[in-house]
Amino acid sequence: MNQPHPGRGIPSLDLLLRTPEGLGLLEAHGRIRVLEALRDGASSLRRASRLPADPAGFLLEHASRQLQALNQPSLRRVLNVTGVILHTNLGRSILAPVALEALQEAASGPTNLELDLEQGRRGSRQVHVRDLLALLTGAPSALVVNNCAAAVMLTVATLARNREVVVSRGEMVEIGDSFRLPEILSHAGARLVEVGTTNRTRLEDYRAALGPDTGLVMVSHPSNYRIEGFTESPDPIRVAALAREHTIPSFLDLGSGLLLDPAEHGLPNEPTVPDAVAAGFDLVAFSGDKLLGGPQAGILLGRADLLRTMSQTPLARAVRIGKLPLAALEATLRLYLDPRRVLEELPTMVALRLSAESLRKRAETLADDLRDRLGGRVQVEVVSSRSTPGGGGMPGAELSGWCVRLVPPDGEQAWAERLRREPIPVLATCRKGGLHLDLRTLPSEDEPELIRALESTAP
Ligand SMILES: *Cc1c(COP(=O)(O)O)cnc(C)c1O
Repeated sequence: MNQPHPGRGIPSLDLLLRTPEGLGLLEAHGRIRVLEALRDGASSLRRASRLPADPAGFLLEHASRQLQALNQPSLRRVLNVTGVILHTNLGRSILAPVALEALQEAASGPTNLELDLEQGRRGSRQVHVRDLLALLTGAPSALVVNNCAAAVMLTVATLARNREVVVSRGEMVEIGDSFRLPEILSHAGARLVEVGTTNRTRLEDYRAALGPDTGLVMVSHPSNYRIEGFTESPDPIRVAALAREHTIPSFLDLGSGLLLDPAEHGLPNEPTVPDAVAAGFDLVAFSGDKLLGGPQAGILLGRADLLRTMSQTPLARAVRIGKLPLAALEATLRLYLDPRRVLEELPTMVALRLSAESLRKRAETLADDLRDRLGGRVQVEVVSSRSTPGGGGMPGAELSGWCVRLVPPDGEQAWAERLRREPIPVLATCRKGGLHLDLRTLPSEDEPELIRALESTAP
């Protein structure tokens, strides 16, 4: 009942459209959109208990803001100064320049996606990466799908529908992103048989659970958690061997797909894909956009007969990889033919390997610059920090580095919020009363944009 003067005092929309501001909006957005935005403003005025001092100005301003928001893309670039390299909420891996070129080429014209050029017949989109994956990992064959969750689902649904999947209790986890293993298994139509306990599982526990109804023995890599203390789990090699003894397929969900030897290339320790294949699992699954550094994809490696059966199911069709990620994946994998190029050109690897010393130098230069620009209002210092690879890779691994720490007089939360609302949003971390900027995840060429955003939002 809050409408004392419905309509009174609200200017005519026709008149508004003839003002210079109204004409400008018409020119930029067209009559239909402008009228819609003005009507929306007018209806909010009708609901208001009191009109603003300048209703015409209010309506034009309201319409202008609404129309501008409409033109702003929703999915857009942000600056990541969280230090988390594979940040799921920020899109995980950043592609190498060669992968971007491949993406652009595949997107802008026809390709031989599913055409065998030799025979002139329909072909499989898998051929573009299958041999390359086999070569790089030692696996007999490969199948790529939309993401690793789809790879797990496809494996379980094909090999263990209405049958049992044997999994350790210590691996009944949620990886994040609503990936909960028990739910995936039940949705795929398999019965879960848990063995062992949360902290200790032995080979004998697996052995006792195997029977005529077992469809699959599954091991899941702890990609973002660690169970510490009084723990025990059998070597995955022995679990795979046990399954083979019983002629039951074995499956390792590795999650992150590190292809390079970490010790040899100065990377934090993490089981690699070639190691997982060599351990003797019939099937191994991992993501394309975690430590592999490629596009979103789910990569399955292993026995050719099992992969062929899986590829012929309707589910495989439903979760097939798109041509754009496929193009980017092939280009990323080709880089791995020369590991030196991976270390130089793959942004994920470059960020992982940045030395603490180089980060300290960059942080100090930025801090000096910010002291000049932000005046005395903000306390600026350089502090040592630890960042994590993130994105389900290297649980517990920490990368030491340095951060710029900003302490504003009015609280770091409010500043972080203003930074997120910038034209190029900035994602920083609030910690112990300060705003932390970790340059590990910001390419040097983006630093001027970071400085601009900090200046325009500083208290
Ligand atoms: C990340 C992860 C997944 C999910 O991978 P997506 O590519 O995001 O679908 C599955 N299993 C493990 C062990 C993971 O770490």
